[in-house]
Amino acid sequence: MQYQRSSRLFKEAQAVIPGGVNSPVRAFKSVGGTPIFVERAQGAYLYDVEGNKLIDYISSWGPLILGHAFDPVIEAVKKTAEKGTSFGMPTALETEIATLALEMVPHMDKIRFVNSGTEACMSAVRLARGASGKEKIIKFAGCYHGHSDAFLIQAGSGAVTFGSPSSPGVTKGTAQDTLLAPYNNLEVVTQLFQEYPEEIAAVIIEPVAGNMGCIPPVEGFLEGLRSLCDRFGSYLIFDEVMTGFRLAPGGAQEVLGIKADIVTFGKVIGGGLPVGAFAATDQIMRHLAPDGPVYQAGTLSGNPLAMAAGYAMLNALNQDKEVFDRLAKKTAYLHQGIDTVLKRTGLAYQINRFGSMISVHFTSSAVTDFETAALGNNDRFKKYFHGMLQQGVYLPPSAFESYFLNDALSFADIDQTVDALERIVTKL
Ligand SMILES: *Cc1c(COP(=O)(O)O)cnc(C)c1O
Repeated sequence: MQYQRSSRLFKEAQAVIPGGVNSPVRAFKSVGGTPIFVERAQGAYLYDVEGNKLIDYISSWGPLILGHAFDPVIEAVKKTAEKGTSFGMPTALETEIATLALEMVPHMDKIRFVNSGTEACMSAVRLARGASGKEKIIKFAGCYHGHSDAFLIQAGSGAVTFGSPSSPGVTKGTAQDTLLAPYNNLEVVTQLFQEYPEEIAAVIIEPVAGNMGCIPPVEGFLEGLRSLCDRFGSYLIFDEVMTGFRLAPGGAQEVLGIKADIVTFGKVIGGGLPVGAFAATDQIMRHLAPDGPVYQAGTLSGNPLAMAAGYAMLNALNQDKEVFDRLAKKTAYLHQGIDTVLKRTGLAYQINRFGSMISVHFTSSAVTDFETAALGNNDRFKKYFHGMLQQGVYLPPSAFESYFLNDALSFADIDQTVDALERIVTKL
């Protein structure tokens, strides 16, 4: 495949947009080469500006769980747009999507809509701090909760306690309030609680991690977090921006049978428009403005186009609950196909999967946290990514990202994907 047009468009973009992209992973930094510019997409397929058709395994990084240009969403957006795009006043649509979302998600009484997953997580932490009167949070290395300062923290040198900023521009003061632990490691979290028994407002976690590849929680880990939070009076925040409305109607809380105190959403909840949300019980939500003193706001929050798209998406999922099983079956089928091809090669690899999330890691040891995910052979991943792309399969352009299957993908598409791997596997 040739990418002259994408190359030219990328050059033009680089002249006016930092790095040529509006979100870094799109720039192909970790796999090299030219980002593919998209013309349009339909169902399971992307059509790039060169006219190539690609089988899509990222689904816009999750939102398009029912495939691209899903009819009910497109229709809802068109119909709503004709009435005006934003009012800065309440609309009935907001109550409709809130009611439906709370019906699908367990344990939550109220939900506030924002414009991105970042905003949802940032606001959830402020709410947890405001409601608890405590300042520190615990997050897990390799979990992504958006790009707000409190989350751009990496493990400090040696010690597990204080983190240090992972990006210039984040202050040391901010880093001091974010404690870090390895994913799936309850011992370190227990130590942190023992060290700061009165200071931890919240533990925030991706209940199934998807930002270091797909990493499921080990048995007992989330249960352990739940009981530590209960014991020390901290809030457990499930960041379900990825898993919400993807793993089940009620997300990871439902599938794993664990109750969080605050849950954040994004991606699927907006049906492909910029939406985030956070939900909690009345007892916690009454601290939020305008009912309470914890401030949070947004000019375009609850935007009618976004709410109409989100409602159409949630409604479609709620009407067809089999979709989650179907997606899990397709993902298992892909797993089996990739496994069969890779097994014959003798290459070291791991395949992690949970529901419709899956990732391939070229490493011999089990991938259970950021450290083990980082052991993956990135040169091999690059060859795998570009090899598959040449065969018309679009995988996430980073070894640290999960694939997100969508229901428009057919078993025949998956067969084609596995055939593509078969053709390139000797070059890995
Ligand atoms: C994508 C993501 C976010 C950030 O959402 P944005 O809409 O990109 O701001 C937060 N948490 C998780 C788990 C995510 O996957």
